[in-house]
Amino acid sequence: MDPALSTRPPTDTCDAVSVLLPLPLIAPYDYLVPENMEVEPGSYVEVPLGARRATGVVWGPARGDVDQQKLREISMLIDLPPMPENLRLFVDWVARYTLARLGSVLRMTMSVPRALEPPKVTTVYRLAPEIDGKSESLPAGVRVTDARRRVLNVLATGWPRPASEIAKAANTSATVIRGLTEAGVLQPIAVQEDGPVAQPDPCRAGAVLSDAQAAAAGELVAAVDSGYSVTLLDGVTGSGKTEVYFEAIAAALRADRQVIVLLPEIALTADWLDRFKQRFGTPPLVWHSDVPMSLRRRNWRAVLRGEAKLVVGARSALMLPYRDLGLIVIDEEHDPSFKQDEGVVYNARDMAVVRAHIEGLPVILASATPSLETVNNVWRGKYRRLSLPERFAAAALPTIRAIDMRSEKMDRQNWLSPSLVTAVGETLAAGEQAMLFLNRRGYAPLTLCRACGHRLDCPQCTAWLVEHRLQDRLQCHHCGYSAPPPKTCPSCEAEDRFAACGPGVERLAEESREKFPDARFEIMSSDTVHKPADAQALVRRMRDRDIDLLIGTQIMAKGFHFPLLTLVGVIDADLGLAGGDLRAAERTYQLLHQVAGRAGRSERPGTVMLQTFQPEHPVMQALVGGDRDRFIENEADARKQHNMPPFGRLAAVIVSGRDERNVDETAAALGRSAPRVDGVSVLGPAPAPIAVVRGRHRRRLLMRARKDVNVQDLLRRWVFAMKPAGGVRISIDVDPYSFM
Ligand code: ADP
Ligand code: ZN
Repeated sequence: MDPALSTRPPTDTCDAVSVLLPLPLIAPYDYLVPENMEVEPGSYVEVPLGARRATGVVWGPARGDVDQQKLREISMLIDLPPMPENLRLFVDWVARYTLARLGSVLRMTMSVPRALEPPKVTTVYRLAPEIDGKSESLPAGVRVTDARRRVLNVLATGWPRPASEIAKAANTSATVIRGLTEAGVLQPIAVQEDGPVAQPDPCRAGAVLSDAQAAAAGELVAAVDSGYSVTLLDGVTGSGKTEVYFEAIAAALRADRQVIVLLPEIALTADWLDRFKQRFGTPPLVWHSDVPMSLRRRNWRAVLRGEAKLVVGARSALMLPYRDLGLIVIDEEHDPSFKQDEGVVYNARDMAVVRAHIEGLPVILASATPSLETVNNVWRGKYRRLSLPERFAAAALPTIRAIDMRSEKMDRQNWLSPSLVTAVGETLAAGEQAMLFLNRRGYAPLTLCRACGHRLDCPQCTAWLVEHRLQDRLQCHHCGYSAPPPKTCPSCEAEDRFAACGPGVERLAEESREKFPDARFEIMSSDTVHKPADAQALVRRMRDRDIDLLIGTQIMAKGFHFPLLTLVGVIDADLGLAGGDLRAAERTYQLLHQVAGRAGRSERPGTVMLQTFQPEHPVMQALVGGDRDRFIENEADARKQHNMPPFGRLAAVIVSGRDERNVDETAAALGRSAPRVDGVSVLGPAPAPIAVVRGRHRRRLLMRARKDVNVQDLLRRWVFAMKPAGGVRISIDVDPYSFM
């Protein structure tokens, strides 16, 4: 015990502190510190909570809202370095900004509960070296069952893991793992849970940079160690943005600081991670939802100890307990997947800038199609911009042209125009690869009964069911409801009179098979590619030329490198323009530009064809004319006129519940009590575009405010004061991206 404490007056012998728990709580609770324990702000502790124990973090001095006599004692100080102060400040900030509960934000930083337990020696399993998980060649006499095959698959693409995790991933039992181990197919390895983390070597030589690249890299390197700054690295697809920011990473690592690189999860393929390994001699620590828990546990602890220097991951990697951050890189900064729409509703790109501001460090935002938010910050002088206007080496940017669908002769139930069919045919004949893009999963977005006109819809949502013919199911894309297609119409009982309306990628594949019978094709959508390992396998099959024609959804736009791809056909370029989304034009532009950027990434030039009914639309004009900047300026003017983000602020309030009357009652009450303040208007309540999801009725209110208005303050006073009717939930989305 600290000798100084013993000299205190007797009334002060019992110290109390506040402890924040990673639970949906708005504030910390007070606890007493036992005499023989020394805690400091940030200490990870175990405390009694009702009849159980919970782990939490010492947040600060006692709040004093509960009588000291009634307080309980902290049960245990966990043997870990304290949570860094900067992270505690960040948690406070995120909760204040998003209006989420403080404990829920803390929980994001403690997403691996087991990481707080002391390290053990555990056994993980890997495939024996002579086993090739892909071809499933097993030693003679070893029986192959479905369950065993699934286990091999799990281990062929992934990390060695404990038996329980393998069993879970392969949907089988530990007995199967034991059987395979006894047969010599799996090998157990004992690992110390907190094993050392390989250290990247920042002094290895990187790529020889072009003049433009070197100039940009020089500026980024200079920004490292110069406090807070945000730099937009604005470079066309294939210009070498990665190679350039590698130099800044190397500089931060040389200064012995930690570095985060965030990317949309699906783009974290082995190929991409390999580039880090080539550059820095060792793979980075990886953080995303497919990383096994045991490895996440180790990584979390290594980050907290400051031993993990280079972390590459999806948006949740921003929430790790870094000791000494030196640099944050957000690649594909425009990507909508940085916004989390469930739980704590936050945008990891924006929060990364906040974290950098708190910690006083540089941020690099990289993109070929930066968001208007970011560009506007460049215009206002808050962010700096570095440009890489050319593709690296011989690769030229693809030629983009529009196919005017008003003058194409289309057969019924066909979606490939004659012009596109000709182009694909020529590409395939030349031994090159083509890609067809349609941002719609499944076979058909709508199924209707030809006898009575009834449309098949989801029993729990206001949404049509989407036919997925490959699985022989109808699916709701909003709640996950799925059922086999009915034989008879649920409305008029006519038999087998269903008609599929409109195309999805599966239907496009069917048409492609008719038109290009010799082509080997594959579908790439979130139905076939769930995790980075799947994306990697597909990228490899493309590179190995096992695929001639790739048909896919927006998942293809996430920065993959297909060196032999020379033609991209966009089936319905207008698709994203419909609907009331404020970012419809911007998103469509970004998405189509990113898809187009897959073409012609090596020596052979690429061509992109956009099937559109509105070739005169500014989005199509900008794509065809390559005039991105004018498009952004026009888009900015339009938003400015209506005081829309980034020139004004938006916040959505969503009221939902099973009882429609209660929902309406609460929504109407919110409407009546909406703040009447200069520079603020509240629209609604109105039914959400998808008015019912999972049986819950939804109403939306939208608050639009001038930039200088403290939106959080208004929301707190308005929404938190409301007592919702029975079973009704109110959620807040500050800076909404989804308007469904
Ligand atoms: P971006 O991120 O801008 O799309 P990348 O960094 O992925 O671009 O670079 C595109 C391709 O060009 C990659 O295969 C990369 O290795 C290569 N490349 C870019 N710059 C260089 C360089 N200076 N030297 C060698 N290869 C480079
Ligand atoms: Zn549904």
